[in-house]
Amino acid sequence: MPFRRKPLLDRTIAIYKKLIIEVIMDFGFSEEQELFRREIREFVRKNLSPDRYWGLLDEGETDEDWAFIMSISKKLAEKKWLTLSWPKEYGGLAVSHVQSMIFEQEVGYWGIPGTSMGISGTSWVGPSLMLFGTDEQKETFLPPIAAGDEDGVWCTGYSEPDSGSDLASLQTFAERVGDEYVINGQKVWTSCAHRARWMWLAARTNRDVKKKHHGISLFLVDMQSQGLKVNPLRNFVGQHFFNEVFFDDVKIPAKNLVGVENKGWSQLMTALSFERGLALGASGTMKRMLEELTEFAKESGSIRDPLVRARLADFFMEVEKLSLLGQESVWKAERGDIVIYEPSRDKANMDEILDELSRFGADMLGGYSLVHPMHKNSRWTRLKGMIEQAYYFVMGMAVAGGTTDTQRNIVANFGLKLPRS
Ligand SMILES: Cc1cc2nc3c(=O)[nH]c(=O)nc-3n(C[C@H](O)[C@H](O)[C@H](O)COP(=O)(O)OP(=O)(O)OC[C@H]3O[C@@H](n4cnc5c(N)ncnc54)[C@H](O)[C@@H]3O)c2cc1C
Repeated sequence: MPFRRKPLLDRTIAIYKKLIIEVIMDFGFSEEQELFRREIREFVRKNLSPDRYWGLLDEGETDEDWAFIMSISKKLAEKKWLTLSWPKEYGGLAVSHVQSMIFEQEVGYWGIPGTSMGISGTSWVGPSLMLFGTDEQKETFLPPIAAGDEDGVWCTGYSEPDSGSDLASLQTFAERVGDEYVINGQKVWTSCAHRARWMWLAARTNRDVKKKHHGISLFLVDMQSQGLKVNPLRNFVGQHFFNEVFFDDVKIPAKNLVGVENKGWSQLMTALSFERGLALGASGTMKRMLEELTEFAKESGSIRDPLVRARLADFFMEVEKLSLLGQESVWKAERGDIVIYEPSRDKANMDEILDELSRFGADMLGGYSLVHPMHKNSRWTRLKGMIEQAYYFVMGMAVAGGTTDTQRNIVANFGLKLPRS
């Protein structure tokens, strides 16, 4: 006689399956969220040319590009999309983490420029000020960011010639003199400093400390201050993206100190975890690259090659995995968890997948991949130059915001609880 499960057991299993599928593992989006996604696509259709993809490091090489980027920031600000997740009192819409995630994925997929207000305005200066800033700082600095104004464009001054991964060894010094701080030193690789109105600066305020992490403070610095000099640093493809910044007795008001003097390190770590949450946008970018490459493979006939098909399928799985990991971080944040190592895990993953995908893409494009990444309008450009751009800039992406090794160290310390290296 065949084995028959009892009806009660069957019902219980069915209820559990329903629970698992519909409650625990429901990765679907609500009608309202899908509507929002469609609204973003409509915005893209109205405001961006289908012939240009604004890449990850594409922020304003020329004045013309910069003006266009700022015009998009303004339009996003009018919809309050620039600061979607910010509280309403600071010019946001206070939407859920899930809705912000949808926005970031669409930004990456369509290459929507102007979403960051320089290199840090919306993503870590604003959110950090909400946590650690004084009321006056919030009232002064948050509205121009949310409004997409030129006055709300920021750069970030962390790295120095001898301090990168080992950021706590930084030497730029801010000395308190009366009701001012006087700053001397040098920053390097400062993205967007030539466009920014303000700098989010990490400086030493005490040299006489037992641990180098102590004695660091965060400041808000007017880029038009006397004694502050910005020198362009062109990257290896000739693009002006980052700069070196010199401070020669630069005076700023003492009220521009963020939080408590000498206790800036923990605030800095919080700001850095905001910076590393880039994987969602990047998974959107890579999804687009993959779709474009698949179309190219179909047109060129290389899709008939089983190796090409297998590689495309592998990348599809990798990108999907990255997107799901990003969603897991969002889900954790939504339920109130403090996410510490997850953004680093996702950034390390992103660096590696983007590296492999851009190499594979360059192989597939063959001679077309030799177009200079800044010559976007060449008649030889294919896939809007996305592949060349990623191929050349992935090395920088893997270093910016902390190298892949630094991210691995964070995962080892905080995810695996291993001792520090
Ligand atoms: C595109 C781009 C934009 C940037 N924008 C900014 C910006 O706006 N503001 C800013 O302040 N900085 C910026 N940076 C600088 C960036 O933050 C630093 O380059 C980065 O932190 C690495 O520092 P470093 O270059 O001094 O390299 P180093 O720290 O000298 O590292 C050299 C190598 O050693 C490895 N290494 C170092 N320490 C360890 C360790 N403990 N364990 C394992 N391996 C290790 C690194 O992984 C790397 O491979 C930018 C960089 C790039 C590429």
